[in-house]
Amino acid sequence: MSSAEIRTVGVIGAGQMGNGIAHVSALAGFEVRLNDLSQDRIDSGLATIHGNMARQVASGRISEEERKAAASRIHPAVGMEALAECDLVIESAVENEPIKREILKNLCPVLKPEAIIATNTSSISITRLAASTDRPERFIGIHFMNPVPVMELVELIRGIATEDLTFEQSRTYVAKLGKTIAVAEDFPAFIVNRILLPMINEAVYTLYEGVGSVEAIDTAMRLGARHPMGPLELADFIGLDTCLSVMQVLYEGLADSKYRPCPLLVKYVEAGWLGRKTQRGFYDYRGEKPMPTR
Ligand code: NAD
Repeated sequence: MSSAEIRTVGVIGAGQMGNGIAHVSALAGFEVRLNDLSQDRIDSGLATIHGNMARQVASGRISEEERKAAASRIHPAVGMEALAECDLVIESAVENEPIKREILKNLCPVLKPEAIIATNTSSISITRLAASTDRPERFIGIHFMNPVPVMELVELIRGIATEDLTFEQSRTYVAKLGKTIAVAEDFPAFIVNRILLPMINEAVYTLYEGVGSVEAIDTAMRLGARHPMGPLELADFIGLDTCLSVMQVLYEGLADSKYRPCPLLVKYVEAGWLGRKTQRGFYDYRGEKPMPTR
């Protein structure tokens, strides 16, 4: 099988990342099958894609013809069997290892033997996830950044058993999306999150210890370090549950207390204040303008 033969891409999880992966894949000319737990969740992912593509047309980044063609290439896929024809399936469901393992277990029997399975995990070991499939040599980490249609980077991570051909085909797929690749070794949280999440966690400690308010911390990093977004604003954007699970993976995977998740981050997640996706996190998004919650 040559790399030219990746034509149909399956995406499992139609959440903020999964719908972005479906969006960019369809625009790049791939046939897309979008899967989630129910038709409703797939529909809500499709609605997001349509809204985002319409914005791209309005701002002149794509033409109306390109939007139409891309939208017609994305098909809902209810149940694993609907992914049977895929040449590449990217798992982008919740960052929870038992759930990902269960998905992979159910996915393998329906796929062609040569199909590649990729995961968009932010932090879980690629080698360990690969070992729960029937094809560790055809398994790889393809880690997109949020929001997928905007961010230029993709991290490619081999597991210990990933074959060169799998890596090359994945590299070709990512290149066709017009993204730039950073190759990372399979260690907890790879490159971007290994550096970014401890910074966010430290910002939450800075808030927890009363060194600064939400507003002061974000202003400080925006204007004092030239970050385009403050760390707490960014945490809300990523999702506080995702931030917490990445810190837990770093803490456990590297067994170093410097990665200890901030108790205040844990408290926000326990409250269900997960950031933008639940309308409340370090900011409250229910009004006209985001208001700091501390
Ligand atoms: P999300 O909560 O927005 O979406 C997750 C989706 O997975 C939901 O729609 C949910 O219904 C679905 N899902 C749950 N169980 C499923 C199952 N058994 N089968 C099919 N679908 C299922 O989360 P997200 O932010 O899109 O994150 C998805 C993945 O991408 C995670 O592994 C996360 O670590 C990774 N990631 C996230 C970011 C980020 O900034 N949010 C960045 C890079 C990678």
